[in-house]
Formats: sequence, structure tokens, C-alpha cells
Amino acid sequence: MSRAILVLNAGSSSIKFSLFLEQGESLEFFLGGQLEGLYTSTRFKAKQAQGLLMRENDWPQGLPLGHDGAIAYLADFLREELGQHSLVAVGHRVVHGGLDFAAPLRLNAETVERLEKLNPLAPLHQPHNLKPIRLLLDRLPDLPQVACFDTAFHRTQPELAQMFALPKDLHDEGVRRYGFHGLSYEYIASALPALDPAAAQGRCVVLHLGNGASMCAISGGNSVASTMGFTALDGLPMGTRCGALDPGVILYLIDQHGLDARAIEDLLYKQSGLLGVSGLSSDMRTLLASEEPRAKLAVDLYVYRIVRELGSLAAALGGLDALVFTGGIGENSAEIRARVCRAVAWLGLELNESANQSGLARISAPASKLSAWKIPTDEELMIARHTRRLLAE
Ligand code: ADP
Repeated sequence: MSRAILVLNAGSSSIKFSLFLEQGESLEFFLGGQLEGLYTSTRFKAKQAQGLLMRENDWPQGLPLGHDGAIAYLADFLREELGQHSLVAVGHRVVHGGLDFAAPLRLNAETVERLEKLNPLAPLHQPHNLKPIRLLLDRLPDLPQVACFDTAFHRTQPELAQMFALPKDLHDEGVRRYGFHGLSYEYIASALPALDPAAAQGRCVVLHLGNGASMCAISGGNSVASTMGFTALDGLPMGTRCGALDPGVILYLIDQHGLDARAIEDLLYKQSGLLGVSGLSSDMRTLLASEEPRAKLAVDLYVYRIVRELGSLAAALGGLDALVFTGGIGENSAEIRARVCRAVAWLGLELNESANQSGLARISAPASKLSAWKIPTDEELMIARHTRRLLAE
């Protein structure tokens, strides 16, 4: 019998879950899955550690579960599957910790209220992240819950790196660069010392390339700059998000196209990025396999923007000792990795082409001045680790 930690990542229409068991010092992934279509037609899927499907379930259209029903269903499923194991805590992914929360936080009614005050900073995510927390606080008040923030890892950034050149009052109010994907970067920073101890103590840039994408400059294990800013819209082009944009474009859209805030939000979050440029798909696999000129253009722009940002982050670090690729694209696309590495040969990076094609972690040549790595991220494990640590305090 082991102690179990549940990790929840609740979005507007889905809840992803992972269950970890304590095995001595380490945490072993036991099972995981997701409930999708919470307000349309709900689907449930759970897999064991070896990837074996455990259960699949579909609810008829018109009878969606909502967050409430999904949590109740998940609680029943976990009760059955836990058997002898005992659930000791739940760790939640919460997008925004604002200025106050630079570390994971034990949750109670008062702390949840403080997190709800941050909803305006991340209206598309924060309220949904907090829903299951409220539900569990009501139903199982004695079950310890912990919030782990996507922004927390970046709170070490120097004040200058956090500033927009806006009137200072806005900065003081909280209009500043926060940075996201912090749990992924923190996981990578925790894995790098075993692979490249010198780079882990030195200067590295991590590229988290998934549907959402960002890059982070890390010095001695601490975030010093990142491409995402006030929201998860800034920086690199993503699956459907535009990335960095001249703010004058927004004024033009208002004045010339008569768009309101919601229409602009839809355009920038859902119609742009790889999808908008290609007119074909937000999925990198589809674009790489396509012969369409616009698909090629989207991939070219994606790589170009990464390379530009890499120069900027290397400058913020004053040099570079390592580059780490992670996220769905970073971990799986040898082509994108190769194109980025070749474009930054001027930094002294020499790609090992065959290592890049194989499953090896190190993809730079032995003689390369800086090392390059492919490291699968594990945000859920990071949350489980934090949750266990807070439980012990
Ligand atoms: P999320 O940000 O939603 O967690 P992921 O990290 O899973 O997303 O990344 C999804 C992206 O990874 C998609 O664009 C997908 O096309 C891309 N991807 C996954 N496998 C490959 C592959 N073999 N080659 C290229 N891209 C891939």
C-alpha cells in the first residue's frame, strides 16, 4: 500500500489528471487520463503507466458532465482504482500566481479567494483552474490541496526583464511580463544537472514547443527572461496564437475593421499562429507533411521567430552554454530541432545529425561550443513533487 498524489490540470472544457504513488524517495506515475468536452459531449479516457487503456467512456451529446459532474465521476473512478493505496493530497496546475505567489501554495478558502482576485490577469484559464479546487474544498475539506503556478518560476527575473515601457503606474498595478510554462522549465532545470552539470550552473535557453510555445533564459537554474509576457500570447507564434505583435496592429483592427475586444481575442488566440499563416492546420505534423506553399511559409516563420528570440535570450544571458528542446514539437520533431540548431551555428553550436534523428538526449556534436539537448518535460511530476514537499512541511 502506497500514498498517492493526484495532479489535476483543469481547463475550460477539459480536466487532465495523473496519479502518482510514493515509492521511497521517488514518485511513480500510476495512471492518468482526461475528461474532455465538459460542456459539449463528454469523453473519458484513462491509461495505466505502460500506456495500456484502462477505461473509455462517452456521454451522449446534450448530457455533458460539466466540471462538477466530471470531478464526481473522477472521484468514483479513482476510488475504484486506488484499491489499497490512499490519496493523501491533490496538486493543481494554476496558471497565475500574480506578484505574490513565487512558490507553490497550500490551499484553503482564504488562499483560493486571493487566487480568484487574479482572474482578470488570465480570464481564459484561471477561473477554470480554480473550479475543482473549490469543489474539493467543499466536499473533502480535510484533503490537502496545493496550487502550483505557471508564473512562479519566473518571479526570479530581474525587474527590467519584467517591465513594459508603459507608464509606471500600470507596472505597479501588475501590467508586467510574468512568463508562463514555468512548471515545464522548472522540471527541465531539475533534470539538466544530471546531464550537463556545467550548463545547469551556467546559461541555458529552454525551448518549450507545444501547442503553446515559449522560450526561457535560465541562469544558474533561475529564470532571467522569457518570451511570454503579460499573457500566454506573447513571443513565439504557436498553434493558433500569434505571438509577438506590434500593438499598433490592435489599434488598426479596432479602427479599420471595427473589431471589439472579444473578436480580437478570438483572432489572436484562435485564428492566428501556424493555423492562421498556413490556412491549413495548427498541427506541426500536418504542416511538415504538406506540400502547400502556405504550410511551408508557416513553418519557416515559426523557425525564424525562434531563431530571433534565441538571439535575444542569449544576449540577456550574456552568452550561452546549452540549448534544451522540449514540448510536443521540441521532443518529437528532429526537423525543427535541426533547423533551429543550424541557424544558430554562429553561436558555436554544432549539431550531431545522427543523434538528433535517434532517441539520444544529447543532440550536439562532442566538439560543439555549447551543448544541445532533447529532454521530455513532465509538468505533472513537478506538481506532484511540490505537493509532496508542502505536505511534509
Ligand atoms: P500542448 O501544448 O497542448 O501540451 P504538446 O506539447 O503535446 O501540446 O504539443 C503538440 C504539438 O506537438 C502539435 O503541434 C503536434 O503536431 C506536435 N508534434 C507531436 N509529435 C510530433 C512529431 N512527431 N513531429 C512534429 N510535431 C509533432
